[in-house]
Amino acid sequence: MPVQRAAAVAGERLVGKRVASVKRNPITPTIDFDKDGVQHGHLRLPHSHDNSAWGAIMTPITQVKNGEGPTALLSGANHGDEYEGPIALAKLASQLTADDVQGRVIIVPAMNFPAFRAGRRVSPIDGGNLNRAFPGRADGTVTEKIADYFTTTLLAMADYVLDIHSGGKTLDFVPFAAMHRHDDVQQDAACEAAMQAFGAPYAMYMVEMDPVGLYDTEAERQGKVFVTTELGGGGTTTAATVAIADRGVANFLRHAGILRGDVEAQHSRLLDMTGEGCFITATERGLLEPCLDLGDDVSKGDVVARIWSLDHPSRQAHEYVAEASGILAARHFPSLVEVGDCIGVVARGV
Ligand code: ZN
Repeated sequence: MPVQRAAAVAGERLVGKRVASVKRNPITPTIDFDKDGVQHGHLRLPHSHDNSAWGAIMTPITQVKNGEGPTALLSGANHGDEYEGPIALAKLASQLTADDVQGRVIIVPAMNFPAFRAGRRVSPIDGGNLNRAFPGRADGTVTEKIADYFTTTLLAMADYVLDIHSGGKTLDFVPFAAMHRHDDVQQDAACEAAMQAFGAPYAMYMVEMDPVGLYDTEAERQGKVFVTTELGGGGTTTAATVAIADRGVANFLRHAGILRGDVEAQHSRLLDMTGEGCFITATERGLLEPCLDLGDDVSKGDVVARIWSLDHPSRQAHEYVAEASGILAARHFPSLVEVGDCIGVVARGV
């Protein structure tokens, strides 16, 4: 979608929201988005609690701007226990100069800052999962206010949007950049080109179990060129996954024409989650035995994992069989699982 139409859509939303909620979003940026140069500051969200009566949540934000050009919005820690994004984006924020760019880069290394500070997926303040809270509410909970600020202010300014996820404490992934398929042919092609430019080892046509409330859904609704990732997981990082994030962020900005230089070409193996039987869900609680590792080829009928009873280890384990062929793209990280946990994802090679 052209920038003008995206801005108009955001404007309509804003008008609609103001009518609906009356309130304006209480977040105040300490930087000036129109100013050239490098600015490090915060998004200040008033938050009154026991330890700070007139306190505020101060979410770090960096802007690097040089004249006219497209705007890229880069974020990490939408879920607070995913770390490739915050590391790569802190590095970028500390190193990028105005001379390096043409246009504007807005960097928020930790979107859900309270969750990030707590090392948790969701906010310790209101239990909010930011990536289920969009488009948000200006007069809602802390998490809903953060979502609303991204919807009405930051996304509205952006042309290219990159949101870096990993598996967090409970999932682990093969490293991939991802997009959702779009009916709009132009938007679909633009997102695909940006996903390929990121240059992760894998590139995924992603399907959500439930797209309602996702940042992705809002960014795409506003017509942005949107790329997300899953770069690893387990609540930690490796040198390899951080290097993928570093290279991907630079490639994304080069692809957008904001950072000088050519995209560092890197072939991504294409994967697709659109088929049936992609998600494997635990129907027992117990001890998880992986029978395949991440990246392994999977044939329909293969045993992907077993779950053993904690209380009766002499019982036969429950076997989870692949309903489709492909590769194992994700797995549950902790060895203890509950009923309903996602224990594996089988993605088809394209
Ligand atoms: Zn995530």
